[in-house]
Amino acid sequence: MSALLRAEAVVKSFGDREVLRGVDLSLDRHEVVALIGASGSGKSTLLRCLNLLEPIDDGQIWLDDDDISDPRVDANRVRARFGAVFQSYNLFPHLTVLDNVTLASRVVHRMPRREAEERARDLLQRIGLAEFAKAHPDRLSGGQQQRAAIVRAIATDPELLLLDEVTSALDPELVGEVLELVRQLAAEGTTILMATHEMAFARDVADRVVFLDAGTIVEEGPPAQLFGAPREARTREFLARFT
Ligand code: ADP
Ligand code: MG
Repeated sequence: MSALLRAEAVVKSFGDREVLRGVDLSLDRHEVVALIGASGSGKSTLLRCLNLLEPIDDGQIWLDDDDISDPRVDANRVRARFGAVFQSYNLFPHLTVLDNVTLASRVVHRMPRREAEERARDLLQRIGLAEFAKAHPDRLSGGQQQRAAIVRAIATDPELLLLDEVTSALDPELVGEVLELVRQLAAEGTTILMATHEMAFARDVADRVVFLDAGTIVEEGPPAQLFGAPREARTREFLARFT
């Protein structure tokens, strides 16, 4: 079976600073991959490059058999196949929760409003936010907003969900509810690539953990191996800070 998404020798610089130094990463369908690494190692840049929010300087990104790093590719069409949630809440403050969740389905995927809303209400129900459907995001707690942002990202049934430290802006007592939602999505077979500092969560939920250091993938493997018996000194040093 070929990979759903495959980055090959991806290089990305900002000015003369090389932030991604030849990254190879592939993701199979239904796989949950945790991307770990120190702040500044390039995790967000990699996710943004994969989501075609940043052009790459060298290498290729393949989605199925299409080279989506080709500048002629319609980035919006590619992004319509992904769901993405970044660090801080991404909800539009002037729209209700329901409108936030249905926006992409209605506008990008041209789903009739009634159908989009039915699906959105189902999803909101599932994560315990049904009563907030008609509320604006500022009525929700940080954890609720971030859960709504994840629901918005999955409302279009994306082939791949990119999550960038979705819990890092949350108070500790709100982290659990967001992780629980990610855990559910993973258990349902959603393909997920998530940058995270939640090592215990990565260990528990990910099929594979990838350690990025200074723009290079130093080591990757199943969580039990990467956390339990890291091969590389840099991985051991990084993990030592979390124990
Ligand atoms: P991480 O998500 O692992 O913390 P980032 O991908 O955010 O790392 O950042 C990697 C490096 O790239 C950092 O040194 C950061 O300052 C730099 N960087 C990220 N985005 C930009 C940008 N838009 N312009 C210039 N430098 C950037
Ligand atoms: Mg980041």
